[in-house]
Amino acid sequence: MEVKHQFSLAELNTFGLAVHTPLFIEVTTSLALQEVLKDPRFKNALILGGGSNVLLLQNLTRPVIKISIPGIRIIEENEQSAIVSAGAGVVWHDLVMWSIVNNLGGIENLSLIPGLVGAAPIQNIGAYGVELSDVFHNAIGIGRKTGDSKIFETKDCVFGYRDSIFKNELKDEYVITTLRLSLTKSKHKLHLEYGGISKTLDEMGVAAPTIDDVARAVIRIRSVKLPDPTKLGNAGSFFKNPIVLKSKATKMAKDFPDIPVYNIDENFTKIPAGWLIEQSGFKGKVFGNVGMHKNQALVLVNYGAATGTELWEHAQRVMDAVLSKFDVELEPEVNLIN
Ligand SMILES: Cc1cc2nc3c(=O)[nH]c(=O)nc-3n(C[C@H](O)[C@H](O)[C@H](O)COP(=O)(O)OP(=O)(O)OC[C@H]3O[C@@H](n4cnc5c(N)ncnc54)[C@H](O)[C@@H]3O)c2cc1C
Repeated sequence: MEVKHQFSLAELNTFGLAVHTPLFIEVTTSLALQEVLKDPRFKNALILGGGSNVLLLQNLTRPVIKISIPGIRIIEENEQSAIVSAGAGVVWHDLVMWSIVNNLGGIENLSLIPGLVGAAPIQNIGAYGVELSDVFHNAIGIGRKTGDSKIFETKDCVFGYRDSIFKNELKDEYVITTLRLSLTKSKHKLHLEYGGISKTLDEMGVAAPTIDDVARAVIRIRSVKLPDPTKLGNAGSFFKNPIVLKSKATKMAKDFPDIPVYNIDENFTKIPAGWLIEQSGFKGKVFGNVGMHKNQALVLVNYGAATGTELWEHAQRVMDAVLSKFDVELEPEVNLIN
């Protein structure tokens, strides 16, 4: 394991921000990670996966541990299902493709989500009607203070909408090394009702879709809708979709009759943050080096030479505008890193 000094993270974050860390190390095994966590120099290190859900605000004063633990295998199976174990350093989309090749269903709707497996439970990744928590079996984490490994079952993770215990009570307490998913081997349950999957399958001429077809449809939709971070720096949806009381949404609908609302339960509704941002006039508008994307107002974009501070200032500008127009507070989905 080689410790690197004054290491540039430009290639390791999807905003493409050229910030440095004083110390950098990449770990490829759990044992190596345990060793590094014991090293006092890495005490407050940032744990980095694919860097697709972080906004690095400036040059870091703390070290970075990059998680590159590989490996995918089936550890248990019966006629109907299989438990798949993946190292935290596996590219998430590679795991999805591996599952499809092996005819294992459950994560096809999560195709093309950037990042690595280890970060998936941190914010309970989700797309097109499926969340990680739907297929989660358990995860192994190593305590940053103790070095001990612990198995987290679903009930321990307190999964919510882009949320888990790892963003709250256990923030920065554990490093995930292994994720285990429960996937179907037969009678796959397809989720076609979200985000135009059915329509895309029709366009593809698919009448009886397989999990492979669903993945291909999702990839097709995402490739058109979302900017490719290798071409245009971004971290996907910058904000969470706000969840508001139904009574508030009803009141808002009087002033804004076109407002799209999605019922969560009898008390709460979700409002698409992209709609609020678009209505506030930010969609496609460029402010210096930054802006909200022209096709997807929820995506904050670095048009080339932006700094982390510039991006965050713009995010705050958008948050202020939405608050003053709709009295709704937007909350960043992306992790702000100092
Ligand atoms: C174009 C684009 C589209 C996206 N679409 C979606 C989407 O549809 N749905 C969705 O949910 N997300 C989406 N995202 C966000 C992102 O892909 C996910 O949040 C992903 O899980 C982040 O993985 P990562 O490895 O890049 O995490 P990083 O950005 O490296 O890290 C994110 C956070 O997790 C922590 N972390 C990382 N690895 C570990 C670990 N092993 N143990 C403990 N903590 C860790 C980091 O410290 C950081 O706080 C999108 C991003 C982009 C750029």
